[in-house]
Amino acid sequence: MRVIYFDHSATTPVNPVVADEMYNFLTGDNFGNPSSLYRFGRMAREAIEGARNNIALAIGANPSQPGEIVFTSGGTESDNLAIHGAAYANRSRGNHIITSAVEHHAVLNTVKALGQQGFKITILPVDQYGMVDVRDVAEAITDQTILITIMHANNEVGTIMPIAEIGKLAQKRGITFHVDAVQSFGKIPVNVDELRVDLLTISGHKIYGPKGTGALYIRTGAGWKQSLLHGGAQERLRRAGTENVPGIVGLGKAVELIMENMEQESKRLSILRDKLIKELTSNFKGVKLTGHPYQRLPNHASFLFEDMEGEELQFQLDAQNIAASTGSACTSGSMEPSHVLLAMGVPPAEAYGSLRLTLGAGNSNDDVDRFLAVMGSIIENPDETIEYFKSCGLPKGI
Ligand SMILES: *Cc1c(COP(=O)(O)O)cnc(C)c1O
Repeated sequence: MRVIYFDHSATTPVNPVVADEMYNFLTGDNFGNPSSLYRFGRMAREAIEGARNNIALAIGANPSQPGEIVFTSGGTESDNLAIHGAAYANRSRGNHIITSAVEHHAVLNTVKALGQQGFKITILPVDQYGMVDVRDVAEAITDQTILITIMHANNEVGTIMPIAEIGKLAQKRGITFHVDAVQSFGKIPVNVDELRVDLLTISGHKIYGPKGTGALYIRTGAGWKQSLLHGGAQERLRRAGTENVPGIVGLGKAVELIMENMEQESKRLSILRDKLIKELTSNFKGVKLTGHPYQRLPNHASFLFEDMEGEELQFQLDAQNIAASTGSACTSGSMEPSHVLLAMGVPPAEAYGSLRLTLGAGNSNDDVDRFLAVMGSIIENPDETIEYFKSCGLPKGI
């Protein structure tokens, strides 16, 4: 049976057109080092600059300022580079960093690491929908604030943050603003001028590109000339090391392809998303939507199951060839509930019942119907669930 893949927020399959494009730079004569001045090198350099141009156009950056796009090894590195770079470049002006409690760990743990190095950290709360309140950002700003880092859309619950309003605030106060747009980019419009963003993170493997690729947008004037990695002068001193040419080419192609079809595809997926939300919350007992009811990603549906544990659901769905994810993981009898759900005020015992369904290019209405039928049979057959709860040592009664 074909596997129904409902976990596009975790990663996406590489678009075959992207793979073909990459193959051209893994074989034949396109192996040159982009720093070399002879023809092979120039060909690699040209391909990299083409990818840079695609990204600049896609996020509304100025393509005549190619230095604003830095290629990295992914969303995690882009977040690290943005936060470390901005923090140290602005250290003489202050030491205060603002972020939110629902950020991806690539942001949250980077900010916390800076906290250990003497920076002052404010972690803003969110409301029951996982949304940051702009007034909380305004209140947190001090004379010492040098960086605000807030994600565009949340990976676990799909909530879209009021980035343009926060950007306006940051701009007015002259504070560098970083946005992790890994989940939003390619699904909803992302424009660095409209959102007033200084630093923006994207990742290749969330948009049908290769894993281990990403980019950081660095607005001219908000930048710095320092690499996390010490080495050569690549990427205008922002990222040392010979460029990952096939990866960059793949990322550039993935960006081009996803932008061509974004509006239409998001509309198509939002219809499937709405069907999932409607059917699960109205036809199944004890199922609640998590995240914002309408300020959410077009492909994202996430839930709490009162009487089920998320990982148990994940296993049972897997047995039926459906790949979906949960925010918590039961390993050796102990579980860490999702920091996102906890920040939204979900009690720890309830947070274990989370299930995330994130749709993408391969999904159709038939997939949604088969999923709903499978869910029906899982819920009607709770015996194995009880066994599982015992084995995981969970405090929750069913
Ligand atoms: C996946 C993800 C990342 C990390 O990106 P990688 O390319 O996997 O390192 C960062 N932020 C968000 C919101 C993500 O969903």
